[in-house]
Amino acid sequence: MDRKESIVIVGGGASGMAAAVEAARYGAPVLILEKEKRIGKKLLATGNGRCNLTNMDPDQRYYHGQNKNRIESVLKQVPIEEILAFFKDLGITHKVEEAGKVYPYSDQASSVLDVLMYEMDRLNVRIETETKVMSIQQKKSGFLITTNHRNRIEAKKIILATGGKAGSPFGADDSGYGLAKNVGHTIIKPFPAIVQIKLQEKWLKALNGVKWQGEAAFIADGEVKRKEKGEILFTEYGISGPPILQLGRLAGEEGINKKVAIALFPDWTKEAIQAEIYTRLRNCPVKPMDLALTGLLHKKMIPVLLKSAGVEKIARPSSEMTEMQINHLIQLLCNWEMNVSGTLSWQHAQVTAGGIDTNELCSSSMESSMAPGLYLVGEIMDADGDCGGYNLHWAWCTGLIAGKHAAASLSMEKRQF
Ligand SMILES: Cc1cc2nc3c(=O)[nH]c(=O)nc-3n(C[C@H](O)[C@H](O)[C@H](O)COP(=O)(O)OP(=O)(O)OC[C@H]3O[C@@H](n4cnc5c(N)ncnc54)[C@H](O)[C@@H]3O)c2cc1C
Repeated sequence: MDRKESIVIVGGGASGMAAAVEAARYGAPVLILEKEKRIGKKLLATGNGRCNLTNMDPDQRYYHGQNKNRIESVLKQVPIEEILAFFKDLGITHKVEEAGKVYPYSDQASSVLDVLMYEMDRLNVRIETETKVMSIQQKKSGFLITTNHRNRIEAKKIILATGGKAGSPFGADDSGYGLAKNVGHTIIKPFPAIVQIKLQEKWLKALNGVKWQGEAAFIADGEVKRKEKGEILFTEYGISGPPILQLGRLAGEEGINKKVAIALFPDWTKEAIQAEIYTRLRNCPVKPMDLALTGLLHKKMIPVLLKSAGVEKIARPSSEMTEMQINHLIQLLCNWEMNVSGTLSWQHAQVTAGGIDTNELCSSSMESSMAPGLYLVGEIMDADGDCGGYNLHWAWCTGLIAGKHAAASLSMEKRQF
């Protein structure tokens, strides 16, 4: 049976909820259609359950996408103070941690969801869960939505907030891209970002579980693209940890010959590393080579590094290690190159790179230029941020802009008739 609605928000994630609150505060009747059993499923998993809800410096340089100017003009419309005030008003006292990361003082992502749900309830936002939008058709005066229950809903305005493909265990799928394509949008090929890197090296199993404070550089076709410092985790498939997740996007980009080079002692000079290694290997010539390096390197790393330096029998006396092998070892400690084979899949990725071309929207309202009356918010757009609260920041900003403009345009139309 056909129903008539004013604003329908497709997707009850971060951006959809922000849009719902804002549109309802501007007096618009709002309905959210969410395909999962509950709304905000992914939000609960953010920041390891703590929700890194924004960042004190949400500058465009922390964002990626084909049209950076468009991203910047969206971000500039909603200053960080506005986002903090939005949450303060809902009851979220915030705290700022390293690198400007903002968390709720409660340290609980669930508190962010609770206050958003309370506000939506207070504003009479209606929510229908387990309702997947299957198609959107543009009509003369609005849109026709079809759901998985074969319901047909006429909507004056639609806010498309279906997110990207990243985080499939939390409900992410690619249905939003199909809906956008059907109304004429271009989709820039999505690929995983903020994601672990897969390596081709044979020694991966031997290092599984090793954690090391180092600096990782991503190299594509011989050029260093980005460097990140922090705790690197070696795993059976490759590498993970905060600095690697920041580099993951580069591993998914087009291009060949991708490598990660790890500096195991990023705060030491090459001379200091040389002095340390020579002292260890030459001062006690009878000591087995692997033992000579014990206490400096993780025990699981020693055989891998010695073998990579060309040593076959690692328990032989240190005096047997040749100058060439020592120099090779020093080189590895300074710049240990590993061949990249790709990234883990959507299941593990935290964000989607690519998505709806941002050239196809009006950045001051988030309204689609292909289908007027349709607003685009959140991760479905070709805009992804680094790790640090930037992606939720984008979701809140775009949600607030779209909610306000969809409601304003609705009330203007009412006044005209
Ligand atoms: C594990 C994890 C941790 C993260 N931690 C952080 C963090 O701490 N800080 C940060 O800034 N970012 C973090 N992110 C990224 C951030 O969560 C997302 O960028 C953000 O949630 C995107 O918001 P969104 O509203 O666009 O999409 P989502 O939050 O993904 O919401 C989209 C919603 O739409 C629904 N939907 C999809 N298709 C349909 C359809 N056809 N019909 C009806 N409903 C549909 C989905 O079920 C979902 O509920 C994390 C991501 C993951 C996976």
